[in-house]
Amino acid sequence: MAGSLYAAWWGFANGISTPIWAFVVSTATFIVILALEHLMPAVRGWSLFRDRQSFNDIGHGILIGGISRPVALPITVGLVGLVVAVDDQARARGPWPHSWPMAAQVALGLLLWSLANYWTHRWFHRVERLWWFHALHHDPTRMQLLKGNRIHIGEDFLRYVVILAPLLVLGASPRVVLWIAMWNNVEGTLAHSNVDMRFPGVLHWVLPTPQNHRVHHAGDRQLQDSNFAGITPVWDQLFGTYRHPDRNPVIEFGLGGGETVPDGFVAQLAFPFRARPEQAVQQVRA
Ligand SMILES: [Zn+2]
Ligand SMILES: [Zn+2]
Repeated sequence: MAGSLYAAWWGFANGISTPIWAFVVSTATFIVILALEHLMPAVRGWSLFRDRQSFNDIGHGILIGGISRPVALPITVGLVGLVVAVDDQARARGPWPHSWPMAAQVALGLLLWSLANYWTHRWFHRVERLWWFHALHHDPTRMQLLKGNRIHIGEDFLRYVVILAPLLVLGASPRVVLWIAMWNNVEGTLAHSNVDMRFPGVLHWVLPTPQNHRVHHAGDRQLQDSNFAGITPVWDQLFGTYRHPDRNPVIEFGLGGGETVPDGFVAQLAFPFRARPEQAVQQVRA
Protein backbone atom coordinates (compact mmCIF):
# COMPACT_ATOMS: atom_id res chain seq x y z
CA MET A 1 0.00 0.00 0.00
CA ALA A 2 2.88 2.37 0.87
CA GLY A 3 4.49 1.54 -2.50
CA SER A 4 1.29 2.38 -4.42
CA LEU A 5 0.82 5.66 -2.58
CA TYR A 6 4.47 6.60 -3.12
CA ALA A 7 4.13 5.83 -6.85
CA ALA A 8 0.96 7.96 -7.02
CA TRP A 9 2.75 10.85 -5.27
CA TRP A 10 5.75 10.57 -7.64
CA GLY A 11 3.47 10.79 -10.69
CA PHE A 12 1.57 13.82 -9.35
CA ALA A 13 4.84 15.57 -8.37
CA ASN A 14 6.27 15.02 -11.86
CA GLY A 15 3.19 16.34 -13.61
CA ILE A 16 2.15 13.09 -15.36
CA SER A 17 -1.45 13.09 -16.64
CA THR A 18 -3.64 12.08 -13.68
CA PRO A 19 -5.99 9.60 -15.45
CA ILE A 20 -3.07 7.86 -17.18
CA TRP A 21 -1.00 7.68 -13.99
CA ALA A 22 -3.96 6.49 -11.90
CA PHE A 23 -4.46 3.67 -14.43
CA VAL A 24 -0.74 2.73 -14.40
CA VAL A 25 -0.55 2.70 -10.57
CA SER A 26 -3.82 0.75 -10.22
CA THR A 27 -2.69 -1.86 -12.76
CA ALA A 28 0.75 -2.25 -11.16
CA THR A 29 -0.85 -2.57 -7.71
CA PHE A 30 -3.23 -5.22 -9.03
CA ILE A 31 -0.35 -7.27 -10.51
CA VAL A 32 1.69 -7.08 -7.27
CA ILE A 33 -1.27 -8.19 -5.11
CA LEU A 34 -2.11 -10.97 -7.59
CA ALA A 35 1.50 -12.22 -7.39
CA LEU A 36 1.40 -12.09 -3.57
CA GLU A 37 -1.88 -14.06 -3.54
CA HIS A 38 -0.07 -16.84 -5.37
CA LEU A 39 3.19 -16.68 -3.43
CA MET A 40 1.61 -16.46 0.04
CA PRO A 41 -2.13 -17.27 -0.07
CA ALA A 42 -4.20 -17.05 3.13
CA VAL A 43 -6.30 -20.02 1.86
CA ARG A 44 -4.87 -22.28 -0.86
CA GLY A 45 -7.09 -22.53 -3.96
CA TRP A 46 -8.88 -19.20 -3.48
CA SER A 47 -7.65 -17.78 -6.75
CA LEU A 48 -9.33 -15.61 -9.36
CA PHE A 49 -8.29 -18.25 -11.93
CA ARG A 50 -10.44 -20.88 -10.18
CA ASP A 51 -13.44 -18.61 -9.56
CA ARG A 52 -16.34 -18.93 -12.02
CA GLN A 53 -17.49 -15.41 -11.11
CA SER A 54 -14.19 -13.70 -12.00
CA PHE A 55 -15.40 -12.40 -15.38
CA ASN A 56 -18.49 -10.96 -13.70
CA ASP A 57 -16.30 -9.39 -10.99
CA ILE A 58 -14.19 -7.72 -13.70
CA GLY A 59 -17.38 -6.54 -15.46
CA HIS A 60 -18.72 -4.93 -12.26
CA GLY A 61 -15.28 -3.37 -11.67
CA ILE A 62 -15.32 -1.84 -15.19
CA LEU A 63 -18.83 -0.45 -14.64
CA ILE A 64 -17.98 1.24 -11.35
CA GLY A 65 -14.51 2.44 -12.43
CA GLY A 66 -15.61 3.54 -15.90
CA ILE A 67 -19.11 4.88 -15.25
CA SER A 68 -20.38 5.31 -11.69
CA ARG A 69 -17.32 7.00 -10.14
CA PRO A 70 -16.51 9.35 -13.05
CA VAL A 71 -20.22 10.29 -13.27
CA ALA A 72 -20.78 10.58 -9.50
CA LEU A 73 -18.25 13.41 -9.14
CA PRO A 74 -19.80 15.97 -11.57
CA ILE A 75 -23.32 15.04 -10.39
CA THR A 76 -22.34 15.59 -6.76
CA VAL A 77 -20.67 18.89 -7.69
CA GLY A 78 -23.94 19.86 -9.38
CA LEU A 79 -26.08 18.81 -6.41
CA VAL A 80 -23.79 20.47 -3.87
CA GLY A 81 -23.74 23.56 -6.12
CA LEU A 82 -27.47 23.97 -5.49
CA VAL A 83 -26.67 24.57 -1.80
CA VAL A 84 -23.21 26.17 -1.71
CA ALA A 85 -20.84 27.59 -4.31
CA VAL A 86 -18.20 25.05 -5.31
CA ASP A 87 -16.02 27.01 -7.77
CA ASP A 88 -12.32 27.45 -6.97
CA GLN A 89 -12.72 30.88 -5.35
CA ALA A 90 -15.51 29.65 -3.09
CA ARG A 91 -13.30 26.68 -2.19
CA ALA A 92 -10.53 29.00 -1.07
CA ARG A 93 -13.01 30.82 1.22
CA GLY A 94 -14.67 27.62 2.50
CA PRO A 95 -14.00 26.14 5.94
CA TRP A 96 -11.62 23.51 4.54
CA PRO A 97 -8.07 24.00 6.00
CA HIS A 98 -6.30 24.63 2.67
CA SER A 99 -3.19 25.92 4.48
CA TRP A 100 -2.53 22.54 6.15
CA PRO A 101 0.15 20.27 4.62
CA MET A 102 -1.36 17.98 1.97
CA ALA A 103 -0.80 14.87 4.17
CA ALA A 104 -2.84 16.44 7.00
CA GLN A 105 -5.61 17.46 4.59
CA VAL A 106 -5.74 13.92 3.19
CA ALA A 107 -5.85 12.48 6.74
CA LEU A 108 -8.79 14.76 7.61
CA GLY A 109 -10.48 13.87 4.32
CA LEU A 110 -10.00 10.14 5.00
CA LEU A 111 -11.65 10.49 8.42
CA LEU A 112 -14.68 12.33 6.99
CA TRP A 113 -14.87 9.95 4.04
CA SER A 114 -14.80 6.88 6.28
CA LEU A 115 -17.47 8.34 8.59
CA ALA A 116 -19.84 8.96 5.64
CA ASN A 117 -18.92 5.56 4.21
CA TYR A 118 -19.64 3.86 7.55
CA TRP A 119 -23.22 5.20 7.69
CA THR A 120 -24.07 4.62 4.04
CA HIS A 121 -22.74 1.07 4.39
CA ARG A 122 -24.96 0.53 7.46
CA TRP A 123 -28.03 1.77 5.56
CA PHE A 124 -27.27 -0.69 2.77
CA HIS A 125 -27.51 -3.44 5.39
CA ARG A 126 -30.53 -2.06 7.21
CA VAL A 127 -32.91 -0.91 4.43
CA GLU A 128 -34.20 -3.98 2.63
CA ARG A 129 -34.27 -2.52 -0.90
CA LEU A 130 -30.72 -1.23 -0.50
CA TRP A 131 -29.61 -4.63 0.85
CA TRP A 132 -30.51 -6.33 -2.45
CA PHE A 133 -28.08 -4.00 -4.24
CA HIS A 134 -25.40 -4.71 -1.61
CA ALA A 135 -26.04 -8.50 -1.62
CA LEU A 136 -23.88 -8.82 -4.76
CA HIS A 137 -20.86 -7.74 -2.69
CA HIS A 138 -21.65 -10.23 0.10
CA ASP A 139 -22.33 -13.17 -2.23
CA PRO A 140 -18.75 -14.56 -2.60
CA THR A 141 -17.87 -17.60 -0.52
CA ARG A 142 -14.17 -17.26 -1.38
CA MET A 143 -12.23 -14.02 -1.03
CA GLN A 144 -9.75 -12.81 -3.66
CA LEU A 145 -8.64 -9.41 -4.92
CA LEU A 146 -11.42 -9.00 -7.51
CA LYS A 147 -14.09 -9.05 -4.79
CA GLY A 148 -13.27 -5.50 -3.64
CA ASN A 149 -14.83 -4.12 -6.84
CA ARG A 150 -17.69 -6.62 -7.05
CA ILE A 151 -20.14 -3.84 -6.27
CA HIS A 152 -23.48 -3.16 -7.98
CA ILE A 153 -23.20 0.02 -10.06
CA GLY A 154 -26.39 1.39 -8.43
CA GLU A 155 -24.95 0.98 -4.94
CA ASP A 156 -21.57 2.39 -5.93
CA PHE A 157 -23.08 5.50 -7.53
CA LEU A 158 -25.36 6.24 -4.57
CA ARG A 159 -22.58 5.72 -2.02
CA TYR A 160 -20.11 7.93 -3.91
CA VAL A 161 -22.59 10.81 -4.14
CA VAL A 162 -23.32 10.64 -0.39
CA ILE A 163 -19.65 10.27 0.56
CA LEU A 164 -18.33 13.02 -1.74
CA ALA A 165 -20.97 15.59 -0.74
CA PRO A 166 -19.55 16.57 2.72
CA LEU A 167 -16.03 16.98 1.30
CA LEU A 168 -17.29 19.23 -1.50
CA VAL A 169 -19.51 21.26 0.85
CA LEU A 170 -16.50 21.91 3.10
CA GLY A 171 -14.44 22.90 0.04
CA ALA A 172 -11.79 20.14 -0.17
CA SER A 173 -9.63 20.48 -3.29
CA PRO A 174 -9.86 17.97 -6.18
CA ARG A 175 -6.33 16.81 -5.30
CA VAL A 176 -7.46 15.77 -1.79
CA VAL A 177 -10.47 13.91 -3.23
CA LEU A 178 -8.22 12.16 -5.74
CA TRP A 179 -5.83 11.01 -3.00
CA ILE A 180 -8.70 9.60 -0.96
CA ALA A 181 -10.15 7.76 -3.96
CA MET A 182 -6.74 6.19 -4.69
CA TRP A 183 -6.25 5.22 -1.05
CA ASN A 184 -9.72 3.71 -0.91
CA ASN A 185 -9.11 1.68 -4.07
CA VAL A 186 -5.78 0.18 -2.92
CA GLU A 187 -7.09 -0.50 0.59
CA GLY A 188 -10.29 -2.10 -0.74
CA THR A 189 -8.32 -4.46 -2.99
CA LEU A 190 -5.97 -5.44 -0.14
CA ALA A 191 -8.82 -5.93 2.36
CA HIS A 192 -10.54 -8.47 0.05
CA SER A 193 -7.37 -10.15 -1.20
CA ASN A 194 -6.29 -13.68 -0.34
CA VAL A 195 -2.80 -12.57 0.70
CA ASP A 196 -1.67 -14.08 4.01
CA MET A 197 -1.16 -10.85 5.97
CA ARG A 198 -0.73 -11.16 9.73
CA PHE A 199 -1.00 -8.47 12.37
CA PRO A 200 -0.56 -8.39 16.15
CA GLY A 201 -4.08 -8.49 17.67
CA VAL A 202 -3.86 -4.92 18.93
CA LEU A 203 -3.50 -3.50 15.38
CA HIS A 204 -6.95 -4.81 14.37
CA TRP A 205 -8.35 -2.11 16.66
CA VAL A 206 -6.90 0.71 14.56
CA LEU A 207 -6.11 -0.58 11.05
CA PRO A 208 -8.50 -1.70 8.28
CA THR A 209 -6.98 -5.20 8.27
CA PRO A 210 -8.28 -7.91 5.90
CA GLN A 211 -9.18 -9.92 9.04
CA ASN A 212 -11.53 -7.14 10.19
CA HIS A 213 -13.24 -7.08 6.80
CA ARG A 214 -13.48 -10.88 6.59
CA VAL A 215 -15.66 -10.81 9.71
CA HIS A 216 -18.00 -8.51 7.74
CA HIS A 217 -18.12 -11.04 4.88
CA ALA A 218 -19.13 -13.95 7.15
CA GLY A 219 -22.24 -15.96 6.28
CA ASP A 220 -23.46 -15.42 9.86
CA ARG A 221 -25.90 -12.45 9.72
CA GLN A 222 -24.80 -11.08 13.10
CA LEU A 223 -21.19 -10.92 11.95
CA GLN A 224 -22.28 -9.38 8.61
CA ASP A 225 -23.82 -6.51 10.58
CA SER A 226 -20.45 -5.52 12.07
CA ASN A 227 -17.15 -3.97 10.94
CA PHE A 228 -18.77 -1.61 8.41
CA ALA A 229 -15.95 0.92 8.26
CA GLY A 230 -13.09 1.07 5.80
CA ILE A 231 -9.96 3.19 6.41
CA THR A 232 -10.23 2.80 10.21
CA PRO A 233 -12.37 0.54 12.43
CA VAL A 234 -12.60 3.33 15.02
CA TRP A 235 -16.10 4.28 13.77
CA ASP A 236 -17.33 0.74 14.45
CA GLN A 237 -15.99 0.95 18.01
CA LEU A 238 -17.62 4.35 18.50
CA PHE A 239 -21.03 3.24 17.20
CA GLY A 240 -20.98 -0.23 18.80
CA THR A 241 -20.59 -2.47 15.73
CA TYR A 242 -16.99 -3.61 16.11
CA ARG A 243 -16.12 -7.31 16.34
CA HIS A 244 -12.48 -8.24 16.82
CA PRO A 245 -11.44 -10.97 14.34
CA ASP A 246 -9.53 -12.96 16.99
CA ARG A 247 -12.73 -13.38 19.01
CA ASN A 248 -15.09 -13.89 16.06
CA PRO A 249 -13.77 -16.67 13.83
CA VAL A 250 -15.46 -16.89 10.43
CA ILE A 251 -16.76 -20.39 9.65
CA GLU A 252 -18.16 -19.63 6.18
CA PHE A 253 -18.28 -16.65 3.85
CA GLY A 254 -21.16 -15.45 1.69
CA LEU A 255 -24.80 -14.51 2.12
CA GLY A 256 -25.34 -17.41 4.52
CA GLY A 257 -28.13 -19.98 4.62
CA GLY A 258 -26.94 -21.49 1.32
CA GLU A 259 -28.20 -18.44 -0.59
CA THR A 260 -26.57 -16.94 -3.66
CA VAL A 261 -27.44 -14.11 -6.05
CA PRO A 262 -28.12 -15.00 -9.74
CA ASP A 263 -25.07 -16.30 -11.68
CA GLY A 264 -25.51 -14.21 -14.86
CA PHE A 265 -24.01 -10.72 -15.19
CA VAL A 266 -27.17 -9.03 -16.52
CA ALA A 267 -29.33 -10.86 -13.96
CA GLN A 268 -27.00 -9.60 -11.20
CA LEU A 269 -27.49 -6.03 -12.41
CA ALA A 270 -31.27 -6.39 -12.80
CA PHE A 271 -32.48 -8.39 -9.79
CA PRO A 272 -32.32 -5.59 -7.14
CA PHE A 273 -34.82 -3.64 -9.28
CA ARG A 274 -37.38 -6.47 -9.28
CA ALA A 275 -40.57 -6.13 -7.26
CA ARG A 276 -39.54 -9.19 -5.20
CA PRO A 277 -35.72 -9.42 -5.38
CA GLU A 278 -35.70 -12.26 -2.85
CA GLN A 279 -37.28 -14.49 -5.50
CA ALA A 280 -34.08 -14.14 -7.59
CA VAL A 281 -31.90 -15.40 -4.75
CA GLN A 282 -31.14 -19.08 -5.26
CA GLN A 283 -30.61 -21.86 -2.78
CA VAL A 284 -27.81 -23.75 -4.44
CA ARG A 285 -25.29 -24.26 -1.70
CA ALA A 286 -25.82 -26.95 0.84
ZN1 LIG B 1 -21.62 -4.93 3.77
ZN1 LIG C 1 -16.21 -6.21 1.23
